[in-house]
Amino acid sequence: MGGPGRVGGPGEGSGGDPRPCPPGAMLMAIRLRGMDAGETLALTRAMAASGRALAWPPAWHGLVVDKHSTGGVGDKVSLALAPALAACGCKVPMISGRGLGHTGGTLDKLEAIPGFRVSLSPEEMRSALERVGCCIVGQSEELVPADRVLYGLRDVTATVDSVPLITASILSKKAAEQLSALVLDVKFGSAALYPTQDSARELAQSLVEVGTQLGIRTVAVLSRMDQPLGRAVGNSLEVLEALECLDGGGPPDLRQLVTTLGGVLLWQCGKAAGAAQGRELLGRALDDGSARSIFEAMLGAQGVPPDTAHGLCSGTPAQRRRFLGTAKVCEELPALQEGTVELLEAVPGLPPVQPLFITVDPARDDAAALGRYLRDFHPRLQGLTGTAEQVRAAAGAFRVYVSAGPPDPDGDYVVDHSVLTFLLGPDGLVRDCYGRSRTAEELAKSVRGHMESYEPLPPG
Ligand code: URA
Repeated sequence: MGGPGRVGGPGEGSGGDPRPCPPGAMLMAIRLRGMDAGETLALTRAMAASGRALAWPPAWHGLVVDKHSTGGVGDKVSLALAPALAACGCKVPMISGRGLGHTGGTLDKLEAIPGFRVSLSPEEMRSALERVGCCIVGQSEELVPADRVLYGLRDVTATVDSVPLITASILSKKAAEQLSALVLDVKFGSAALYPTQDSARELAQSLVEVGTQLGIRTVAVLSRMDQPLGRAVGNSLEVLEALECLDGGGPPDLRQLVTTLGGVLLWQCGKAAGAAQGRELLGRALDDGSARSIFEAMLGAQGVPPDTAHGLCSGTPAQRRRFLGTAKVCEELPALQEGTVELLEAVPGLPPVQPLFITVDPARDDAAALGRYLRDFHPRLQGLTGTAEQVRAAAGAFRVYVSAGPPDPDGDYVVDHSVLTFLLGPDGLVRDCYGRSRTAEELAKSVRGHMESYEPLPPG
């Protein structure tokens, strides 16, 4: 493939016309007419061969892995996953992208960190992998330059959402990386490039077919994106949230995706006996700080001054924010309505309510998992878990229906249960019960009524 203005070649114009095909016209033609699997593979190979191929020592055989996402709002998975995989013994030479369409780019997020260099030579990448285990870089003059050109052009020619163009863009980078195993996070929903699961499945099939033809063990995971991943959207904020995940915390949906994708890769490269064990190992690397130490070392290897890298990785949230700076304009957007507890707390003289959450799945929800989950709700919400018998007894006492569905091949399962909120008096007796259709105001009014009319039962 030639450079800009030279894509296509003699004989590729109409009737053997040797005029070059401008890349924008080529992109539009592919977007409108599509490509079959053979053509997509040829385009992918040509794009991969537009730059230098990376080469790794024989001792790393089978260990060089990567994940790539088709893009979504708030997706900061790569920032936590690359170092977590390296902490588990993998080598991750991640060539990533910038924002595309309405989805954010990993490189833009990393550039929010002062000093971070996304452009490394193949030699620098190899050195980073030797010393640290991972790096996250962009396409460059040396690395898949054809994708660099076409990626930027797609954004301004309305040709982003084309299955063959996405396939070739992603897999040309992965082919240049000389990977053993690849997991693809194919997103669907209103915050992704494709809105429906069916369209995402078509993209996943194309990616797996071409990836396999390139000799890469390729797996695709479909993930729903009808809302941003985690809570933060915006480059600096997403770095902060990725650091929370590297602290062993962060929003549960982010951690779940990081451990799910990483679990598949650890299984693929033989570091785990299955995806479930892979998820466990990945989770441990997040919880014990080893992934965060590798992230700090990766920042150092990619140009971030040591005190900045250390301060970011070891600092408090406020210290971390100081390294990244804050937006010039900050606007608070409060929740549209207050919750029941806030509404009750606003009434002077009412006794305080204590919100409680009892898990229906003690196998998954140990105290640490509950702690992470509850942080998303109310600062005074307390969580209760226990042995399977204790939780079953609690569910029985409240007449709560609980049924765990069959596990899928990854060991994942869904627990079906009644969704009810109970009001208990100070004596521990149930005073009322509320279903999901009740608003916060209705609940607060009912609770207030119970408080005002409360009379303890006579002793005995
Ligand atoms: N990521 C890429 O690298 N390319 C795409 O086309 C979409 C997501």
